[in-house]
Amino acid sequence: ELNAYIEKIRADFPALHQQVNGKPLIYFDNGATTHKPNAVIEAEAEFYRTINSNVHRGAHKLSDLATEQFENARRTVQKFIGALKPEEIVWTRGTTEGINLVASTWGRKNIKAGDRILVSGMEHHSNIVPWQMLCEQTGAELVPIPVLENGELDLNGFAELMEPRVKLISVAHVSNALGSINPIPDIVRMARINESVVMVDGAQGVSHFEVDVLKLDVDFYAFSSHKLFGPTGMGVLYGKEELLNDMPPYQGGGEMIEHCSFAGTTWNQLPYKFEAGTPNIAGAIGLAAAINYLNGLDRKVLAAHEDSLIKRAHQLAEEMGGIRIIGQSPKKASVFSFLLDGAHPADVGTLLDQQGIAVRTGHHCAMPLMERFQVPGTVRASMAFYNTLDEVDALFRGIEKAKMFLL
Ligand code: PMP
Repeated sequence: ELNAYIEKIRADFPALHQQVNGKPLIYFDNGATTHKPNAVIEAEAEFYRTINSNVHRGAHKLSDLATEQFENARRTVQKFIGALKPEEIVWTRGTTEGINLVASTWGRKNIKAGDRILVSGMEHHSNIVPWQMLCEQTGAELVPIPVLENGELDLNGFAELMEPRVKLISVAHVSNALGSINPIPDIVRMARINESVVMVDGAQGVSHFEVDVLKLDVDFYAFSSHKLFGPTGMGVLYGKEELLNDMPPYQGGGEMIEHCSFAGTTWNQLPYKFEAGTPNIAGAIGLAAAINYLNGLDRKVLAAHEDSLIKRAHQLAEEMGGIRIIGQSPKKASVFSFLLDGAHPADVGTLLDQQGIAVRTGHHCAMPLMERFQVPGTVRASMAFYNTLDEVDALFRGIEKAKMFLL
């Protein structure tokens, strides 16, 4: 029954049904980007085919319709993550831009020399470098929270780092390189004692399980549409209204002003203050289509299915031997990151690709984490709900072949 449900879902994703290198595609690179269901592809095409217009400024019907769909998309996102108001949803072009927005606007206003910003040792570069740039500009200090051998955040180490100088903590909800699900509620609890602001990089969070920003009580939450079965070039920054209101604008331009004169300019209300220029209108509509598609699925069943995929991968790795899994936390999403003893990750990736199996190899934009584990990189099979147990089995047959070739 579950198999039939997954097959039915797979039928909605046209890109899953193709041959690559003469073999049926097995797509295990969902951490990099996910495939798109027909509903998303159609929603974008339909926008360009019909109401295609700029938003918020038209004196004509199509512009009104485009504006309505664009703002409806914002409300769809708001409900999807449990935010209080649509004003708290800022469109960005992805997680990277969301974090840069907070670092440069909240950061510029609130961070001074001697302050500290904490990130974890397992962050993607996009949740490290913007803070490094801010620290360079302000004289603040960026301090990493240590990572345990099994890939979990070291909560004791975190507790030791907490002190009044810590103004902001920014961590991934789910590590793209390990799959570890970080204990956001514990982090928020400790942060509140100190009145530190908490930002979560949700790039790998929203696609694996339901997220409620109010329940999590985080201050900022950023994610990318393209990792959530939606279009590229589109993203979301959630921020608490009070914080967003207090922040200066990010970029200057059209749409973000209330009044502009050479004597001075005043800012538009939320969220437009942070949305200079013509936005990615089709992207917002496409993202809303992805969310509506997900809302029509049983996400609890799919999360359990993903859990069985990653458990099978771990089990098969143990049976095979000669595999080092990086990221062994029992609380992990369906990310299987590993090294084959005696083989370079890049070679394993190439041999898998020849068999139609798409993985990512390398440092996964988390070089400090690779350093922590003293590995040059890993092979990463990152799964989504449309992957099957048969595909996991095929991955291991693929690794077996790679082994014969390489070892
Ligand atoms: N954070 C994490 C944990 C990620 O996995 C990624 C994408 N690999 C990003 C941030 C950056 O996302 P984007 O490139 O879509 O801005």
